[in-house]
Amino acid sequence: MTVPLVYHPDYSFPFPSRHRFPMEKFARLAGYLRSRGLLSADNTYRPGPCRQSWLTPTHCPRYLQRFYSNTLSDREQRQMNLPWSEGLVKRTFLAPSGTVLTAQLALRHGIACHLAGGTHHAHHDYASGFCILNDLAIAANVLAGQDGGLQVLIFDCDVHQGDGTAALLRNQPRAFTCSIHCKQNFPFTKQLSDWDVELAAGTDDANYLETVSATLLAAIHRVKPDIVLYDAGVDVFEGDPLGQLKISEAAIRERDRLVLTTLKNAGIPVATVIGGGYDDDRDALARRHAIVAEEAIRVIERKQLRN
Ligand SMILES: [Zn+2]
Repeated sequence: MTVPLVYHPDYSFPFPSRHRFPMEKFARLAGYLRSRGLLSADNTYRPGPCRQSWLTPTHCPRYLQRFYSNTLSDREQRQMNLPWSEGLVKRTFLAPSGTVLTAQLALRHGIACHLAGGTHHAHHDYASGFCILNDLAIAANVLAGQDGGLQVLIFDCDVHQGDGTAALLRNQPRAFTCSIHCKQNFPFTKQLSDWDVELAAGTDDANYLETVSATLLAAIHRVKPDIVLYDAGVDVFEGDPLGQLKISEAAIRERDRLVLTTLKNAGIPVATVIGGGYDDDRDALARRHAIVAEEAIRVIERKQLRN
């Protein structure tokens, strides 16, 4: 069995290189996986633009229209914190579709990895923290409406709270939001997830891994999900400028391995998204984001890979 990887070449597009958001990381990640022989025509799936019927249960149609037509107010532009361009519009309407596709592939194959996604700060009618549309909430709402209503667990390990996801899915009984994040970090006004696990700034590897493991086991037991959407954010990394935790790259790898192994052993399909990660060394960042796909391939295909 080969792990399906979901990617679109328009995820990265010409973008100011000095901007805090590393827009080129998606192409770098795909390039890195390709260079390792892990991404090829055989295992790549390319999403189409997101269907309107997938977007509107989650987002305000007037907000979508304002973003699409570049008529966001000055305040909305500041909240978005990304310069508007046609390239941005294109990638914004592709990426949530990629997460939906990843979830559908996970249901079929047991696992699939999106080489993007995890824009968990986006709210119903406004952008926040570099997130315009909330792919996790969009996918959860799609899944909740199919096959008699699937039960979804969103297991969000990005260092920042999945505040948009929590707010958007508050009244969705088929989605359970679980966020493990740094208490002192953005967003400074937290929303109420179904389960929030707050880590103190400076949390180290051992405490982190123990927390992730215990939380995942308890969440599975409580929710009995038909599918897990796993946000494997790497901004927990000790060197991440927006992180505040003290997590090594080895521990990120161990985290991803333990999450994917646990779900495999429990027979629960998992769709992964890459989530947040910031680093001026964009190649190092791409390698860090590749960890979750590498571990998926290790766990599922039992392939021997050097790190
Ligand atoms: Zn983050």
